[in-house]
Amino acid sequence: MNMIIKCPTCGANNRLKEDSSNAKPLCGKCKSPLIVQQTTGPIYLTDITFDNFIRKSNKPVLVDFWANWCVPCRLLAPVLETFAQSQHSIIVAKIDTDKNPLIASKFQVFSIPTMILFVEGKEVKRITGALPLQALENQLKPWISIN
Ligand SMILES: [Zn+2]
Repeated sequence: MNMIIKCPTCGANNRLKEDSSNAKPLCGKCKSPLIVQQTTGPIYLTDITFDNFIRKSNKPVLVDFWANWCVPCRLLAPVLETFAQSQHSIIVAKIDTDKNPLIASKFQVFSIPTMILFVEGKEVKRITGALPLQALENQLKPWISIN
């Protein structure tokens, strides 16, 4: 499978082979080093790491606001795991709202699970409630590049 990496310097999209032995890929246009984020599963964010992560990410970030006691959140968890591994356009992150109440409050997340898609640190899409993989992919289609 190929993945598209956006150059942090010039913004050009670079197509890389996922299993590339080239550990330090360079941008085809300006030769700057590319940052390859391995998206093997959801990334766990906290109140402290959240802002920096979503603002600096060169890909859209889907953040799942969840908690341990929430049954639909547990149903959604494997869907998000599969989604994270099945595509490279969107980074999947999770934030435990019990341990990290500040971010949930900042974005006025009143019911969980809520998923918010951030592009360059800004909310562009909000999905409330658990849903199957196909439905999730449909909702996020505009941000998923086929490659
Ligand atoms: Zn470049």
